[in-house]
Amino acid sequence: MNRIDELQQNLLDINNRIQAACKEFGRNIEDVKLIAVTKTWPASDIQLLHSLGIRDFGESRDQEAMSKVEELKDLQASWHFIGQVQSNKLNHIAKYADVVHALDREKVITGLDAAAAKAGRRITGLLQISLDGDESRGGVAVGKALQLAEVFTACSNLDFGGVMAVAPLNRDTNEAFARLQEVAQDIQAKFPKARMISAGMSSDLEIALKNGATHLRIGSALLGNRE
Ligand SMILES: *Cc1c(COP(=O)(O)O)cnc(C)c1O
Repeated sequence: MNRIDELQQNLLDINNRIQAACKEFGRNIEDVKLIAVTKTWPASDIQLLHSLGIRDFGESRDQEAMSKVEELKDLQASWHFIGQVQSNKLNHIAKYADVVHALDREKVITGLDAAAAKAGRRITGLLQISLDGDESRGGVAVGKALQLAEVFTACSNLDFGGVMAVAPLNRDTNEAFARLQEVAQDIQAKFPKARMISAGMSSDLEIALKNGATHLRIGSALLGNRE
């Protein structure tokens, strides 16, 4: 099968899953955005997905992301940095990322703000929420999320977009995503514009949609299994 046919078929299957889940859980399909997670896949796949109508792309490694964005700089697209954010990469990331998903410490939020200023860009930042109670795996603990969100109020180059999470390995995904939605609602009560809930990957997009996800990060179901 041609790569474009393969991608088109996978996209059709995913859109069918999204449609079915939206119907089942009473969600409006217009409130759901698909981010194609293209890490490990070549820039040519991004071009093919773009030709199929995808405009949002997720990458998790700075070096790889930067070289693809460089190669595709004429493409009309939004770039999502979804990986763990290291302080020493912020000046790089600020040059190409439109949305940074995994902010979980004061230092990386204020650092990204400074890097965005230096790059002359506005960037949307999401707070990564830890759903397994183990902050060492990334994300701020649920009980500290609201306090950390306050840091955005002092950041003049960032738009606080909302929350992001990865399903925990050792807990029930539905309960975890329900918890995420509660945190998102607490945050929205204080920050009405922070409406994004980035949750749901290839294997759990339905559970994420059930629990209010607005942005799905889909890799393998769309592009195939990574090496
Ligand atoms: C790789 C990755 C994804 C995509 O995962 P799939 O299971 O391939 O859909 C989503 N989110 C993050 C943070 C990732 O690193």
